[in-house]
Amino acid sequence: MAWVTGHQLRLYNSLGRLTEDFTPSADVVGLYSCGPTVYAYQHLGNMRPYVFADTLRRSLRWKGIAVRHVINITDVGHAVADSDTGEDKLELAAERERRSVDEIAEFYTKDWLAALTALNVQPADEYPRASAYVDQMIEFAKVLEDKGYTYQVPSGLYFDTSKSPGYGQLALLDLAGQRETGRVEHVEGRKHNSDFALWRAEEPGVRRIMRWNSPWGWGAPGWHLECSVMSMALLGDHFDIHTGGVDHRELHHVNEIAQSEAFLADDRPWVRYWLHNEWVLLDAQKIAKSAGHTLRLADLVESGYHPMAYRLFLLGGHYRSQLDFTTTAMDAAQATLRRLIARVAPLRPLPRVETLDEARALADGTGDQAALAYVEAIDAAITNDLATPRLLATLQDALRDPEVSTAGLRVVVAAADALLGLRLGDLEASEVDQRRTPEDLAPQEVAAIERLIAERTQARKERNWARADEIRDELDALGVQVTDTPAGPTWQLR
Ligand code: AMP
Ligand code: ZN
Repeated sequence: MAWVTGHQLRLYNSLGRLTEDFTPSADVVGLYSCGPTVYAYQHLGNMRPYVFADTLRRSLRWKGIAVRHVINITDVGHAVADSDTGEDKLELAAERERRSVDEIAEFYTKDWLAALTALNVQPADEYPRASAYVDQMIEFAKVLEDKGYTYQVPSGLYFDTSKSPGYGQLALLDLAGQRETGRVEHVEGRKHNSDFALWRAEEPGVRRIMRWNSPWGWGAPGWHLECSVMSMALLGDHFDIHTGGVDHRELHHVNEIAQSEAFLADDRPWVRYWLHNEWVLLDAQKIAKSAGHTLRLADLVESGYHPMAYRLFLLGGHYRSQLDFTTTAMDAAQATLRRLIARVAPLRPLPRVETLDEARALADGTGDQAALAYVEAIDAAITNDLATPRLLATLQDALRDPEVSTAGLRVVVAAADALLGLRLGDLEASEVDQRRTPEDLAPQEVAAIERLIAERTQARKERNWARADEIRDELDALGVQVTDTPAGPTWQLR
């Protein structure tokens, strides 16, 4: 086919659990990635799905395939513990932090987007917010109801999974087994344990903060509904690739598929390729939000690591392998990054490369056969289900290879970084190495910071949260990080 150059792009499809050739079904490939629930800071593990999706996106671009990327923002409907009933994660956070749900969502969305920028993740084309699509979700559920896929119980409207042929195929679900095991919450009137809520009705006597009226009474949409509705609204009924963390392969994506295929009823798979990233582990456990303190990218930066070192740490493992997060591994990543920057800095400026064709043409232009071979090796690595560890090794080989000319090496480094996104073309060694400390500031700068912090403390005392946040943003812009301790606020420079 005309669009294929070099090696065929091959991806591991969770649907069928096989590595398959990737063939786009349209001129612009639709890519949907399940996004964050914005009720708390995203931890380091949470960042892996987006670095992974970014790698996928860069790889498609590398093969000359245009992409439209959508990442949703869950600001409603996600009940505690991923269940269908109980309080909403956002409403709980709003209570805890004494802020409105809108403020909570806004604050954590901004923080997440800033982390993505720091990690050099290319912005998605759309970041739909679930709360803006509730009307469409109700319409979607009505269609399912008309088609006879649903039933109503006191806690809401449920999807009857026994009516969905092939339910659970993505998860290789043994439905009979699942019905027997007891590890499922009890929902009054639910027919099968695998049935899930399309609409979560308000419990009697409980008035939710985020509530909508629906044919099934006041309440909020079920969590799974949003991704089906928003992806179809923004990418069309069918699209090519859906990504998320490996947990979604077992439940969330299973339910998305069931309701979407019931809705479309066109005897075609809803989405063709399902890709899932594995966990980042901390002390052999999945990093999680609920364990008290959440380890964030900002914590790493505060400890002197550059965000690109974390990106390098992630790319050093294949996306389908679990990764152990340790200080030793981060130190190694930071050292590797430092050495990489020192080695490539003298080669700058690097040429602009995004695609294999561009890299080949440039390498051809240098007449350097060794460089051309490295470009092909880079292509072989990335097309092999995004083998970033091999790609990194190939880059290191090229940097050590005396056969490669300087002009050729420029092309190889630019080509590798089109896929790795490590900012090899512009990251300064000094950025990676140095942390500013308050000692680096002039006394009047320190005084200005202290004044802002005092003003913020006052604003918080007066419960003027908006002003307090405004000041925090101002401090943020100055590179000042404030930590509130029982003894009062302390600050550091990032
Ligand atoms: P959440 O905001 O909890 O819905 O998580 C956002 C995304 O991060 C989902 O795709 C999760 O599967 C993924 N995720 C959560 N924890 C980890 C982890 N420790 N390692 C890798 N991915 C994770
Ligand atoms: Zn989703």
